[in-house]
Amino acid sequence: MFQNNLEYAKTQDANDPLASYRKKFHIPKDKTGADLIYLCGNSLGLQPKITSEYIQEVLKDWADLGVEGHTQAKHPWLPYHEFLAENMAKIVGAKPFEVVVMNTLTINLHLMMVSFFKPTTIKFKIVVESDAFPSDKYAVESQLKFHGIDPKEGLILWKPRQGEDLCRFEDLEEIMKNQGDEIALLMIGSTNYYTGQSFPLKKITEIGHKYGCIVGFDLAHGAGNIQPNLHDSGADFAVWCTYKYLNSGPGSLGGCFVHERHAENKELNRFAGWWGHNKKTRFNMRKDFDALPGAEGWQLSNPPILSMAAIRASLDTFAEAGFDNLRKKSEKLTGYLEFLLDEMKNDSINVITPRNPEERGCQLSIQVKNADKTLHTKLSEAGVISDWREPDVIRIAPTPLYNSFIDVYMFSEKLKRILK
Ligand SMILES: *Cc1c(COP(=O)(O)O)cnc(C)c1O
Repeated sequence: MFQNNLEYAKTQDANDPLASYRKKFHIPKDKTGADLIYLCGNSLGLQPKITSEYIQEVLKDWADLGVEGHTQAKHPWLPYHEFLAENMAKIVGAKPFEVVVMNTLTINLHLMMVSFFKPTTIKFKIVVESDAFPSDKYAVESQLKFHGIDPKEGLILWKPRQGEDLCRFEDLEEIMKNQGDEIALLMIGSTNYYTGQSFPLKKITEIGHKYGCIVGFDLAHGAGNIQPNLHDSGADFAVWCTYKYLNSGPGSLGGCFVHERHAENKELNRFAGWWGHNKKTRFNMRKDFDALPGAEGWQLSNPPILSMAAIRASLDTFAEAGFDNLRKKSEKLTGYLEFLLDEMKNDSINVITPRNPEERGCQLSIQVKNADKTLHTKLSEAGVISDWREPDVIRIAPTPLYNSFIDVYMFSEKLKRILK
């Protein structure tokens, strides 16, 4: 159904009900003022134009009101995180009280493991996918060490088979069958940052729970990209960042999900702080810690409102566009990219991301023969912003909010020219 020509790409953009959203973003430009081809929303999402207004509102309230802004600001700072919960919950498929915006991703991952990784002498191992993001691996290894467990014994890698690039669910089943009784936690990146493979969260959760394990997901590459349906997946917890597909600015706050079934459990270990304490008595300051129900009960500090304002701007944009519409466009846009790459029939590149749209988000990972990094350099020189990940992959992530079919087409033309 796809066609390899500019007219076709133009027609797709003309018929795209979400095409107008591109104008709502700042698109980076080259020296001549022309739009760069930005295919890097998997690393840092672009800035919505409304973000500045949302941040200005906070700055003005702070200027005008000082401390009174906590209660008197247009969006009062005291409950500011609550303004994010509903839209964030929609993005990850959760109930609003199951999600909270706080801290940053790796910190939230640690906080979740403080509560949910409770090794015993028999059940103490953690499973991660073999190409887990380095920070996740460091976090998991350091948690093992913190409990006196040698990562060599405690860390199990769910690996692709020899000669393959993707993890197979059957192999996770095999790990569970052989070692399930010793495994305490499955900690999986929902969409792998390197291969772009999206894992079946519900099936993973079911098999984890069957063996009495806790199941957590890192949605850094999932949130705002795929619909993880966290609540229905049954996962115990999840964490993600908001600066990738959620377009809320470099280093912005992370998100955290704790399943409803743990909402009232005050017995769970947690590193506590006053923002997780009962709102009614928070300012009495002399009460024993009384955890708020739901994900909010894991908050530590009063959060940076400026960063939350950027997240609110982004979530409002998502809510307006509608996540289902975005996902529909995303499948088509990435399908088009896949089609154009196939058309090149060039054996110096190979897409390692799954072909099935249900097993991936918008990103395609292009493996480059002989790990030739100059291909990425040449793409950059040609005005394409993408990223290179060692050892040999260029990640291309057309996002449905601000990328167009023309972007994808122009990228493929430039790549074709460079490969010639
Ligand atoms: C981007 C990313 C991170 C980054 O963690 P921060 O704590 O936000 O710096 C961690 N894990 C994964 C899987 C990521 O994709």
